[in-house]
Amino acid sequence: MEHTKCLIIGSGPAGYTAAIYASRANLAPILYEGLQPGGQLTTTTEVENFPGYPEGVEPFRMMDDMRRQAQRFGADIRSGIVTRVELTGSVKKIWVGDEVIEADTVIIATGASARYLGLQSEKDYAGKGVSACATCDGFFYRKKTVAVVGGGDTACEEATYLAGLCKKVYMIVRKPYLRASEIMQKRVFDTENIEVLFEHNTLRLTGEGKVEGADLVYRKGEPDEKMVHIDIDGFFLAIGHTPNTQLFADVIELDHEGYIVTHDGRPQTNVEGVFAAGDVADPLYRQAVTAAASGCKAAIEAERYLKG
Ligand code: NDP
Repeated sequence: MEHTKCLIIGSGPAGYTAAIYASRANLAPILYEGLQPGGQLTTTTEVENFPGYPEGVEPFRMMDDMRRQAQRFGADIRSGIVTRVELTGSVKKIWVGDEVIEADTVIIATGASARYLGLQSEKDYAGKGVSACATCDGFFYRKKTVAVVGGGDTACEEATYLAGLCKKVYMIVRKPYLRASEIMQKRVFDTENIEVLFEHNTLRLTGEGKVEGADLVYRKGEPDEKMVHIDIDGFFLAIGHTPNTQLFADVIELDHEGYIVTHDGRPQTNVEGVFAAGDVADPLYRQAVTAAASGCKAAIEAERYLKG
């Protein structure tokens, strides 16, 4: 059976950075790329906030740069989806279909997936005005009008961030109140160019080749139900993320939202020799640069664990 010192699951900034560090530490890591090589970042248009790219960078190029950097030091990067894991004991087992690999350490960098409403038009306008990350894409909507869907802390944070860049921000909230913390709500209500549309649901996005508007329904099913149209240039989803942890739920400690539990900014999980990096263990920051940093930490800890 094939054996490796370090197996990395996931190919976003966390996984590739872990592969760079692990290969430079002579761990000869094997990395499985998973369903979406390059990770969530590849769903955005341009990356302008990753240090080292002063002119900004196309996400596929940045991820390919990271991938090649890992390969340069000998990381074995494979396409394939991990289907099952056995992580307890000193030798871990990882299945990729029918194939089984043994590993001394495992770095989980499977990321998280933004939740979408499930509308056909979200897919039709993907990369053409639909985004799930204001910090990544907000800049492209300077002085324009955008909508943010959701009423939680993320939606409030994204709306206030976008309000600093955009002419006007609508918040589309399905309930008659915000779920967000008081302080975030206050920020929203104190910001002049944010208009909160309570009890509105999105029916569809409209526009010629890119988002130009949204059809909403107000108080659906109630006697005063009515249709509302708003003109917008961008549509931001902020209805939560789902960490990709289904494979590990039986063994790895997860929090109530399904994120892997780590402590004090360290990558150790509750299972010895298993480390978590990137968004899979980070509900708060979710940035490429923080994911990359945690991939570095995970590889360093894997090396220490093997030496120890
Ligand atoms: P939340 O789950 O807290 O909020 C999701 C929001 O999206 C809710 O308002 C929810 O509505 C709405 N929503 C969900 N599904 C749909 C749908 N299908 N259609 C319309 N609206 C929908 O997620 P967040 O990402 O905001 O936050 C996740 C966690 O991270 C929270 O614990 C939050 O406190 C934390 N966080 C903290 C921050 C901070 O402290 N600075 C910043 C960002 C996040 P409804 O209320 O009706 O369910």
